[in-house]
Amino acid sequence: MKTVQYISTRGRTPPMGFQEAVMTGLAPDGGLLVPEAFPDVRDRLDEWSRLSYQDLAYEIFRLFVDIPDPDLRGLIDRSYRTFRHPDVAPLAKAGPVRILELFHGPTLAFKDIALQFLSQFFEYNLERSNGRLNILGATSGDTGSAAIHGVRGKDRINIFIMHPHGRVSPLQERQMTAVLDPNVFNIAVDGTFDDCQRIMKTIFEDVPFKTEHALGAINSVNWARVMAQIVYYFSSGLKVMKETGAGSVRFAVPTGNFGDVLAGYYAHRMGLPVSRLVLATNENDILSRFFSSGEYSVGSVVPTISPSMDIQVASNFERYLFERVGRNAEDLCSLMKGFTASGRLTIEPGSEGVVDALFRAGVGSTRDTLGVIRRYHEEYGYLLDPHTAVGVYVGEQHGSDDEPMICLATAHPAKFSKAIEDAVGEDIARHEILEALKDADTRCERLPADLEAVRDYVAAHAL
Ligand SMILES: *Cc1c(COP(=O)(O)O)cnc(C)c1O
Repeated sequence: MKTVQYISTRGRTPPMGFQEAVMTGLAPDGGLLVPEAFPDVRDRLDEWSRLSYQDLAYEIFRLFVDIPDPDLRGLIDRSYRTFRHPDVAPLAKAGPVRILELFHGPTLAFKDIALQFLSQFFEYNLERSNGRLNILGATSGDTGSAAIHGVRGKDRINIFIMHPHGRVSPLQERQMTAVLDPNVFNIAVDGTFDDCQRIMKTIFEDVPFKTEHALGAINSVNWARVMAQIVYYFSSGLKVMKETGAGSVRFAVPTGNFGDVLAGYYAHRMGLPVSRLVLATNENDILSRFFSSGEYSVGSVVPTISPSMDIQVASNFERYLFERVGRNAEDLCSLMKGFTASGRLTIEPGSEGVVDALFRAGVGSTRDTLGVIRRYHEEYGYLLDPHTAVGVYVGEQHGSDDEPMICLATAHPAKFSKAIEDAVGEDIARHEILEALKDADTRCERLPADLEAVRDYVAAHAL
């Protein structure tokens, strides 16, 4: 069977198959792994518009993986069985826009869609290779808990997630520490998120230690995560086009690491009729500045009410740049080299005088975000979480009368109830799962912000 090969954006890694690409994560030459070509699916859209979410995921993943069909089916079924809505990613209507609800997974945030699948894949791959994996990560919130909920209870996998003690929201902390499965190890580090990240990086650089303990990461550049996210662009886009008779759609995407919106860009490349990708950031606006001016330059991170987008350097952006330079790895390397040296890179405008004719970009400030949450609650009876609200705010500015706008809802509002209270004046965002956490038992190890302490703990509890 001829399957897609994955190449590195930096061009110095031999091509590899899907399974190897996903187990590897980051390419050994420091680049990101991308499929050698994107399939053109335009003649399948009609057929695909009639499929369930799982069936559509199966058809899309088949184009990218080297997993036998029946095994792939099983993986998809197990991944999305944990979702609380039969459509997995249902659509709602709110005023002028459609809301694509991506928060029906176990941790009520869109990262579940990718991490449930990635975890099922890890387990599958390790069973067949008789392997084991010790995942080590550092989190300031959402990713850690989505990863923990993905791998909890799995044989062959232990997971160690560091968070800065007392510096993640009490709710986010409980979403992690109330998972009592014996393969889950939460570590509260007496320090900052940067301390956690520094400790993690140093441990990963210790190659003998990494090899001895089969350490792996769950970072947002893993190809399987991007691939899993392509599905909901097709599912929602096809559904809305069918319902409205429109020939194309627009998407508004609240953005941090450029992972979610990258999947939309790939869906467009595969042939989904997307006329606009509206990229929305909070005050941490490196990406919106890039798509408005062509200059990508690092600023400093400011904390906002949409914390999962408080990011300056977007780890998945290199995959977009690779396409922008015509997949020329040499050009990409020199761009990245310049960026590492100066914290800045520039792309010349395209033929239409804009950075990219497909993209529009904008910023939703804290004030704008709270205002949108209040207005959607009052006028349309729909409660937006602050991340989603950033996307809706910028999306509204790039709407059109004859093309539906689909706004990606990346978290359930109850996860950010303080922002909701600030916006609407009352604490009304609730979810039974989060309520139940209030008196759940928890388990967590508290350690000093010290490399040795964390390394010894991992070594003592690794599989
Ligand atoms: C991670 C996250 C985002 C940003 O997604 P990227 O793929 O990093 O752009 C937006 N909203 C929520 C709730 C998230 O958890």
